[in-house]
Amino acid sequence: MLTGRRILVTGGAGFIGSAVVHHLVEDLGAHVLVVDKLTYAGNLASLAGLDDRPGYRFVRADVCDAPRMAALFSDFDPDAVMHLAAESHVDRSIDGPMDFVTTNVVGTATLLQAALGHWRGLSPERAKAFRFHHVSTDEVFGALGETGTFTETTPYDPRSPYSASKAASDHLVSAWGHTYGLPVLISNCSNNYGPRQFPEKLIPLNLIKGLASEPMPVYGEGENVRDWLFVEDHARALALILAQGRVGETYNVGGDAERRNIDVVTTLCAVLDDLAPRAKGPHRDLITFVRDRPGHDFRYAIDFSKLERELGWRPKESFETGLRRTVQWYLDNRAWWEPLLTIEDAAARRGLAAMR
Ligand code: NAD
Repeated sequence: MLTGRRILVTGGAGFIGSAVVHHLVEDLGAHVLVVDKLTYAGNLASLAGLDDRPGYRFVRADVCDAPRMAALFSDFDPDAVMHLAAESHVDRSIDGPMDFVTTNVVGTATLLQAALGHWRGLSPERAKAFRFHHVSTDEVFGALGETGTFTETTPYDPRSPYSASKAASDHLVSAWGHTYGLPVLISNCSNNYGPRQFPEKLIPLNLIKGLASEPMPVYGEGENVRDWLFVEDHARALALILAQGRVGETYNVGGDAERRNIDVVTTLCAVLDDLAPRAKGPHRDLITFVRDRPGHDFRYAIDFSKLERELGWRPKESFETGLRRTVQWYLDNRAWWEPLLTIEDAAARRGLAAMR
């Protein structure tokens, strides 16, 4: 369905972007141009093995650079865009919101303008088949209490600078669809985990802390609830939405795996005990509660029945099997993550050293 299609993927050197690019090129035979600024979160090692694939290309560029984006569209001549480039870490958005506004809001508007110029120059047949797929988060919907789920019609209520910037970008994408007729798609997904995730987020941070026998940090009392999706399941969902989603629609994507943070880390400890046992006792002894993030949303839960009903997608991995694959990947790929621990970036160190 996407075989031979020319897809421009922004943020393709990031965690989800790289999973998407591997899937598009290796499983689906698409032609992919990755456009990525290579911030601290972008890593060319995540795209290893693709260089000699026909139809794969990487370009280092900033989505906020309008002339560069226009030139890349003109040169690559894409059939579709998958927009994943973003500043993505909530804690960093609290410390420094302006980078989030710049990349997530201005960058998305800049990319939309480049896509619009390109789309208007296409033949009627290609213009009809063109898609601009914007990848977003369920955090735009705000926070839930003990019950309820986010659907595609839940009103937006973002709470952090990160989620506010993503909400703004979602609105821009819908506006370009309504106002100019650009064929857009939006997907909003819950928390992802899996291989190649920068070790500042809950699972890879605690995984690496656990392997080093260092304290494993959990915010507050670990009561916050998130839904978890294995990244390769997300990549499959995104390709399916791009290929078969209805223009102008939004699709929620979720993992059917609601867990309290403390349960996530406890399960991680059990997997670590099994795959990388500690001489000094079980990994759960390392769990340490730390001061909560300001404005920490209590619970997110996502209803993805529309995606299941319309496009027949469901996650393949359970949380337990996906977590086991994740731990095994980090054990087998120390060369990918060990260099990241020395990144000379104060904010990154703050995340990595949350417990020091
Ligand atoms: P990530 O931080 O791992 O990767 C982001 C990528 O974007 C990096 O490669 C980075 O170099 C690149 N980038 C940043 N600013 C750029 C710019 N100005 N120009 C070009 N490239 C730039 O993020 P991720 O976790 O892979 O998330 C990808 C997308 O999915 C984001 O839009 C995020 O909001 C969304 N999302 C993430 C999750 C999650 O759990 N990680 C869940 C739902 C949605």
